[in-house]
Amino acid sequence: MPEDQQVEQQKFVYDFHEGNKDLKDLLGGKGANLAEMTNLGLPVPPGFTITTEACKEYLVSGEEPAALRDEVSAHLDALEARMGKKLGQADDPLLVSVRSGAKFSMPGMMDTVLNIGLSDESVQGLAAQAGEERFAWDSYRRLIQMFGKTVLGVDGDLFEEALEGAKHAKGVASDVELEAKDLKRLVQVFKEIVAKETGRDFPQDPREQMDLAVHAVFDSWNTDRAKLYRRQERIPHDLGTAVNVCSMVFGNLGPDSGTGVAFTRDPASGHAGVYGDYLQNAQGEDVVAGIRNTMQLAELEGLDKKSYDELMQIMQKLETHYLDLCDIEFTIERGKLWMLQTRVGKRTAAAAFRIATQLVDQGLIDEAEALQRVTGHQLAQLMFPRFDSDHKGELLGRGIAASPGAAVGKAVFDSYTAVKWSRSGEKVILIRRETNPDDLDGMIAAEGILTSRGGKTSHAAVVARGMGKTCVCGAEELEVDTKRRRMTAPGGVVIDEGDLVSIDGSTGKVYLGDVPVVPSPVVEYFEGRMHAGAEDADELVAAVHRIMAYADRVRRLRVRANADNAEDASRARRFGAQGIGLCRTEHMFLGERRQYVERLILAESDEEREAALTALTPLQKDDFVSLFEAMDGLPVTVRLLDPPLHEFLPDITELSVRVALAESRKDHNENDLRLLQAVHRLHEQNPMLGLRGVRLGLVIPGLFAMQVKAIAEAAADRLDAKGDPRAEIMIPLVGTVQELELVRDEAEQVIAEVEARRGVELKLTLGTMIELPRAALTAGQIAESADFFSFGTNDLTQTVWGFSRDDVEASFFTAYLEKGIFGVSPFETIDRDGVGALVRSAAEAGRATRPDLKLGVCGEHGGDPESVHFFHEVGLDYVSCSPFRIPVARLEAARAAAATEGGGSDHR
Ligand code: ADP
Ligand code: MG
Ligand code: MG
Repeated sequence: MPEDQQVEQQKFVYDFHEGNKDLKDLLGGKGANLAEMTNLGLPVPPGFTITTEACKEYLVSGEEPAALRDEVSAHLDALEARMGKKLGQADDPLLVSVRSGAKFSMPGMMDTVLNIGLSDESVQGLAAQAGEERFAWDSYRRLIQMFGKTVLGVDGDLFEEALEGAKHAKGVASDVELEAKDLKRLVQVFKEIVAKETGRDFPQDPREQMDLAVHAVFDSWNTDRAKLYRRQERIPHDLGTAVNVCSMVFGNLGPDSGTGVAFTRDPASGHAGVYGDYLQNAQGEDVVAGIRNTMQLAELEGLDKKSYDELMQIMQKLETHYLDLCDIEFTIERGKLWMLQTRVGKRTAAAAFRIATQLVDQGLIDEAEALQRVTGHQLAQLMFPRFDSDHKGELLGRGIAASPGAAVGKAVFDSYTAVKWSRSGEKVILIRRETNPDDLDGMIAAEGILTSRGGKTSHAAVVARGMGKTCVCGAEELEVDTKRRRMTAPGGVVIDEGDLVSIDGSTGKVYLGDVPVVPSPVVEYFEGRMHAGAEDADELVAAVHRIMAYADRVRRLRVRANADNAEDASRARRFGAQGIGLCRTEHMFLGERRQYVERLILAESDEEREAALTALTPLQKDDFVSLFEAMDGLPVTVRLLDPPLHEFLPDITELSVRVALAESRKDHNENDLRLLQAVHRLHEQNPMLGLRGVRLGLVIPGLFAMQVKAIAEAAADRLDAKGDPRAEIMIPLVGTVQELELVRDEAEQVIAEVEARRGVELKLTLGTMIELPRAALTAGQIAESADFFSFGTNDLTQTVWGFSRDDVEASFFTAYLEKGIFGVSPFETIDRDGVGALVRSAAEAGRATRPDLKLGVCGEHGGDPESVHFFHEVGLDYVSCSPFRIPVARLEAARAAAATEGGGSDHR
């Protein structure tokens, strides 16, 4: 090897002494934290970590880096010297575990192999040293089992069956009742399984065992499951995993030994206390595997006070060191405590809020940090209605919590019945083995969806989340028989069509009967029906209140609501909205008023058209007066009519039938005939890309002018009433500045006319949605004629991807998600690289033309946590979302600001 290469040779192995918690990229999460604990002086069994860099080289070249073997040898020598015994030494073996550990903990990575170094020879030495024959053979059988399964790829069931067989032969229920001679025999059987399945003997050379295990960890980086998980979570494929080699400590040495897991505080409430499980005379995963009943950690105090006290001290130390809830794994070997792992622990949504404020109160973290300890997803979870916590509902089974919420209804087993029953006013839960696009109507009709197959990316889960509908999927223990219209639960309980069931999409639980649903206290708080300071306010509400107050102090993005009426507007205001970002006017043309729209479309003369418009104007005006009143002093963006006109006309088939019947009775209805012709004329193959938005305004004379007039008159009314109306007129679906100029000229005339007549100055602004790629690409020109842009990211996503949302979500999104083409639907979270890139460049181009251009986003991305961060980054002024998602947007806007130091103060 040339000189210069030797010089820059990197170090591939770090002793636990040499690392620290900030080296997760290099040492993986587990390794970095083992090093941190070692350096804190905690009792960690000595060992070393092979870096992710070594893994990367191995994955690229298929071989371990040339220097690795020697480095590992050097570290192993040091470890052996320190422990006073050699790996696998016949009379007194050093044993190690080989543990994978990437930067992020990932499913699909190799399971840990314990007891490496045991062989036919050294098992005798271990027995002699420990004075425990049973223990030694138990450790050896575990090694062959774990190594056989995870390193050699032998079907794990073969070992499980053999173990069951041994217990059965002896007539015992638990593995601890197997004696040394039984385990010795089992080792023989296990070795035969390995030989038969792999065509070679179980390796007896300890170093070979270790090396094979290390390579297997490297290889596990590329298992299908790991790859899929990374694609879905957008974890880069080139991070690689580290490997930890850790000297063994034994929890299976008898009743004064054991293994446990613990949290430094209650992961459900955040309260300080003793939370965890302990299992005597056990090794590794036994404690969480449910093979025997564990004891509560608090009981350890009576069992082994010295270890217990030490553990409590260590937990305290970890918390003040990591400044957060930690979870830990430990083992006690003959009364001596050992720490095997720690990391910042998972917690429930409610606990996250409480813990964040508790840590602020303890002076451990500041407010900005508290904001990083909670997420919008967690807040959203806390806002769903839920089942009453003291309900006595009988649990039928559980599946995957696929889409949150609590839903109650009658069981139906096909889509047709779901639709039929819901039309007659019944609440139904659609139960299927799995759903497919044919079930769409039923899913829409149902209160909730329950499937017995499929995971978080199954059709049912994806579509339900898109609809915001409660869903439990993959409840495999429930046997669904759609032919006989029934479902059978594990206990034999049968649910027939029409029986009431309740499903909890936040926990995945399925109950028999009608479980009472209670509103979320957090929503009660936002609604103003519960006060955070009140004596009976619960801890959670108080914590949410404080976090929201921090959030509102630090965020730069403003948050508006999508709301079409005064009621939604008032609610939005209670939830913290700072205006309306999207008022859709199409809903105002339905019901009673549809007749006027019909007349407008059918008008054959100016007089007829004028008459229809004149009838509509006062109705529209009243809509706006109440809206401006509800949002007094805050901006209200009113979008002029957007959808295709035929949406306001009768259904083509129904009408055709009616006309045909009338014809056959020779009973001509002139109006119906004209209507039918209009319906035919306006029928479109692709309404989404047809006559809609600004195009309508330009071809239906007077339509937009009527809407602008109604807005102006409403604003004038509000001024007369000493109000403070701040209307903004928004033109949808503009593709070129010429369209906007034409509409603007007309609107300005209308406004000037109202101002003159009413003797007021209205200060109305006029802007456009940016929702077509061409609009985004010519944003610089469009800005010449616009006071503001509002990115319509729904339509922009549809047009950039060429997706029709209603068509694609139900048909092939499942396949796309499963193939990992995207980790999350681009309708849920903005596609940064495609749609997002257009938003960014349009924002820049628009501001280059007009530095004071106001920029916002309407469309559901405005309430999606990930997307809010993106909109903060590109410097928008506000996001707008449905009223219910406003608190989430407020929180995420603050988290984005707190994360990018300075809060993006380069924009207003
Ligand atoms: P995971 O990533 O699945 O948590 P770990 O590497 O933590 O895997 O190991 C699995 C189990 O084996 C854990 O219970 C852990 O505490 C235990 N374990 C790992 N290494 C050792 C060791 N050197 N001595 C004793 N127990 C160990
Ligand atoms: Mg672990
Ligand atoms: Mg649109």
